Amino acid sequence: QIVYLNGAFMPIEEARIPVLDRGFIFGDGVYELIPVYSRHPFRLQEHLRRLSTSLSSLRIPNLYDSAAWSRHVEELVKRNEAEDQSIYIQVTRGPAPRDHAFPAHVEPTVFMMSNPLITPPASLVESGAVAISSQDIRWDHCDIKAISLLPNVLLRQMAVDEGAVETILFRDGMLTEGAASNIFAVDKGVILAPPKDQHMLPGITYDVILELAESEGIPVDIGYFPEARIRSADELWMTSSTKEILPIVRLDNTPIANGLPGPIFKRMYKAYQLYKNHIMRS
Ligand code: PLP
Repeated sequence: QIVYLNGAFMPIEEARIPVLDRGFIFGDGVYELIPVYSRHPFRLQEHLRRLSTSLSSLRIPNLYDSAAWSRHVEELVKRNEAEDQSIYIQVTRGPAPRDHAFPAHVEPTVFMMSNPLITPPASLVESGAVAISSQDIRWDHCDIKAISLLPNVLLRQMAVDEGAVETILFRDGMLTEGAASNIFAVDKGVILAPPKDQHMLPGITYDVILELAESEGIPVDIGYFPEARIRSADELWMTSSTKEILPIVRLDNTPIANGLPGPIFKRMYKAYQLYKNHIMRS
């Protein structure tokens, strides 16, 4: 496994980070995760734009322009074996004597690694996944893809402990997103989606879903949806770069509608796979 650290490619065993790195001490940094299909990074420019936005929200300098980032990502893909990869990028404020306030002189740490991309097996897509719910216990800047993920870690573990795939979050009684995914519902043929505000991560897959819904002619309602409306929806899906689009058929041990993946999910799943294949060929 070859990784990238501060300008150089190396085997992961050789990559070293100083213990005073603010990523380690404070979780002071941001990340991105880019899926790669048949060695083609998916929606690379969109991921790099979100990275740049996350960095500027935390006032961490972006050391590379998008051309340089693209070159580094493509080189990392080339140096790793799998055809389908997930590229993880992490940028922290860098190493400095421990003090909460920003250090005066500090060089950001840039780390990238590649892992094989594992998307959900066909059997899970066909049967649908199980989710639980929780109050959204996170902060008010969930739109920043920050590495300080302690609430997300606890919420995902809650799902794993219950044998579920995801924890769906409600803030003040309204749907926000999943612990590591965006959530969509379907009600009487209309796709319901929470708006891209400070309480959810603007998913790259979320945008793809909205574009595909438009080209499929499926109406979308973007708004704040109360818990009861989500629980009584006709369909529920989760989306992310690694889960792609996955139906949720049980929430807190209660079936969603008839407990089977719905017709609009099936259409969108097909459209997503076609879109992926089209991108890979172009
Ligand atoms: N929301 C959260 C909290 C996430 O961690 C993720 C991705 O892991 C998403 C949404 C989905 O974002 P994307 O589609 O860009 O992977």
